[in-house]
Amino acid sequence: MGIEETVIAASGALGLLIGSFLNVVIIRLPKNESIVHPRSHCSGCGETIRWYDNIPVLSYLLLRGKCRHCGTRFSARYAIVELVTGLLFAALAWNTLARGTGGATTESVARLGVYLYLTAALVASTFIDLEHQIIPDEISISGCVLAPILSMLVPSLHGTNGRMEALGLSVLGGIVGAGGIWLIGVFGKLIFRKEAMGFGDVKLMGMIGGLLGWKGVGLTFLIGCVSGSIIGLLLLAITKSRYLPFAPYLSFGAMVVVFFGREIGVFLGTTYPEWIRSLFIH
Ligand SMILES: [Zn+2]
Repeated sequence: MGIEETVIAASGALGLLIGSFLNVVIIRLPKNESIVHPRSHCSGCGETIRWYDNIPVLSYLLLRGKCRHCGTRFSARYAIVELVTGLLFAALAWNTLARGTGGATTESVARLGVYLYLTAALVASTFIDLEHQIIPDEISISGCVLAPILSMLVPSLHGTNGRMEALGLSVLGGIVGAGGIWLIGVFGKLIFRKEAMGFGDVKLMGMIGGLLGWKGVGLTFLIGCVSGSIIGLLLLAITKSRYLPFAPYLSFGAMVVVFFGREIGVFLGTTYPEWIRSLFIH
């Protein structure tokens, strides 16, 4: 097995474990409880969940989603979060190290590390927003602070070798991301006379912009709006719920940019104008 395959497999395994940790974050962060103490326990009988009953995805399947002691049903979300995080981590490793790139180098592995961090933050934000209609500051504000630092450490995040250039692009991306969605929220409030967007989304977009740059965060917003309008309106019709969480769609947009940002950039910058030109010039 080559170094790339090893990192892909290790990332997948790490993703399953991080997913298990994110389940704790998703439950405890909105309640302001410690995420390290106490150990996970059954909500039915209070029994501490043993390590062998806490193996990501596998334990859920073996115990058929129930507590070993009292039979209380656990939400399928536990297994879903673990599986999604594991699959995303493995796919990110493949995308960053093996798909048409220079393979595993110190820089590309470091860049992968940042993408894994962003993904973990987005998975947690998505599921917390779905359940509690908030995005915790612990995730978004710390992300806004960390993004410029990580950009200086891993300048290839912004397609450059220069650390100061990466810092500048990160700050610009953060301002465009947070400022853009904030302005749209202000105008939305003026037009619709109700809160259009939460401030949690503003901070989350600051983090995404700080790591993906102004083009990346712009594209994230576009994809988030399109997917959010389509799926959100469908859900609105079915559930009549008045709250439309935005974090899941922004997270989806950011993931599309991480995976396909390069191709989309080539299409919008080169292929698309070429295609338009070919319509008029024969
Ligand atoms: Zn129990």
